[in-house]
Amino acid sequence: MKTTYKKRMQRKKEFIDSRIKEANIDKGIIVLLTGNGKGKSSSAMGMICRALGYDMKVALVRFLKGEQQTGEDLFLDNNSNVVSAHMESGFTWDTQDQELDKKSASETWNEAEKFLANPEIDLVVLDEITYMINYNYLDEKVILKVLSNRPKDQHVVITGRAASKGIIEASDTVSEVKDIKHAFRTNIRAQKGIDL
Ligand code: ATP
Ligand code: MG
Repeated sequence: MKTTYKKRMQRKKEFIDSRIKEANIDKGIIVLLTGNGKGKSSSAMGMICRALGYDMKVALVRFLKGEQQTGEDLFLDNNSNVVSAHMESGFTWDTQDQELDKKSASETWNEAEKFLANPEIDLVVLDEITYMINYNYLDEKVILKVLSNRPKDQHVVITGRAASKGIIEASDTVSEVKDIKHAFRTNIRAQKGIDL
């Protein structure tokens, strides 16, 4: 029994080692985090943290920022390796002004475009951009073109529910966060350090 286990593990190790050896390409990738569960933007923040650990330069672009300040805003704002652009107005049901939302979306996208053309920036996070496409505030085609023309080593992380087909196809890594439970539904309000 013991040897069978050992053999199995040995085979597994050989397989994994050979796969690791084969994966020898370095390039900028697009990571998409979508789905209805909690964990998309905070995962993006985790990758920002990883990148900063290697002294990489990061651009954080947040669509749908809202009034609420988050812990990561406080943490990242003074970091000289981070540049950011935040959509000024909040959510549609906050502003209740579609034209204003559309204008803020394109202003924010203009900033994103600059980051996506700058080879000095190693990682660009486009937080909640999927909604801008779904509401037709931004043109998916334009976004896809800018993404494909970005510097070849630049990584991009995209977050937001209901990612469009085009964004899924353009991404290299796609994860769907599934909602099983959320504390909010038992009347627990958003908690500092966890939700904001
Ligand atoms: P986080 O920023 O915590 O990673 P997220 O980016 O996956 O969350 P969003 O849809 O952007 O999720 O919503 C952000 C806020 O809404 C967070 O405070 C989060 O805890 C909360 N939230 C996320 N998913 C749900 C859900 N399924 N039900 C209720 N609240 C949610
Ligand atoms: Mg989010």
